[in-house]
Amino acid sequence: MSELVLDHDIDRSKMKVSNEIAIQIVKMNKWYGQFHVLRDIDMTVHRGERIVICGPSGSGKSTLIRCINRLEEHQSGQIVVDGTELTSDLKNIDKVRSEVGMVFQHFNLFPHLTILENCTLAPIWVRKTPRKEAEEIAMHFLRKVKIPEQALKYPGQLSGGQQQRVAIARSLCMKPRIMLFDEPTSALDPEMIKEVLDTMIELAEEGMTMLCVTHEMGFAQAVANRVIFMDQGQIVEQNEPKEFFNNPQSDRTKLFLSQIL
Ligand code: ADP
Ligand code: MG
Repeated sequence: MSELVLDHDIDRSKMKVSNEIAIQIVKMNKWYGQFHVLRDIDMTVHRGERIVICGPSGSGKSTLIRCINRLEEHQSGQIVVDGTELTSDLKNIDKVRSEVGMVFQHFNLFPHLTILENCTLAPIWVRKTPRKEAEEIAMHFLRKVKIPEQALKYPGQLSGGQQQRVAIARSLCMKPRIMLFDEPTSALDPEMIKEVLDTMIELAEEGMTMLCVTHEMGFAQAVANRVIFMDQGQIVEQNEPKEFFNNPQSDRTKLFLSQIL
């Protein structure tokens, strides 16, 4: 198992799970044309949960989290986010997008905008936040991810790890209640993985509800309250991390763990 070396002790006591439901998915199915990519997904996420989703490439992990902020459309079943059901109603989609932040493997920053402009764009144009206030909020979150001094540079002038921290800060500027991460460290060199994981750990300590697709099993052990294993479009198994890693139930989970640990 990869050891996660951290700058600080993780304080799990601050990571409280409430009874309030943040995301509820019921018997959800999705197809890409003829291809049945997600099968009967049932999932309840309570506020404050830190869920790690893992599974082989092509198992539907990205599709699942993209359905949660409606970057992809599901064809049957229900997805309810913060009490709003995801339907084709655009009003619902806007509401959900403003409450759910997403961070991708490739940081998707706008290359022709400065770091500060990347962070203020959506607050100014979507939230109608006055520019000065949006800039103050952006600087607050850039300080939080420890790169305020980069504010006036362009993405291409930053390292991959710094760019990913900007992407996280940019999401936080919209004040989301839920954060989705899709392999946020997979495109990074090893020495930069830790700085991004550290940022994610701090978010967890502040009580953020997080769904993270990642193969960083050290992170899963340290931070997650639940690990979900997917294969071939299904949730095969889920458990709290200790049980999940020490006592996997299905053969598919055992095989997967034997390959990555
Ligand atoms: P994972 O993130 O677990 O690697 P994905 O959710 O990206 O898996 O993909 C699941 C399956 O759906 C894969 O077989 C992939 O090839 C297929 N797929 C993903 N996106 C599309 C798409 N836009 N059109 C058709 N097939 C897709
Ligand atoms: Mg993926």
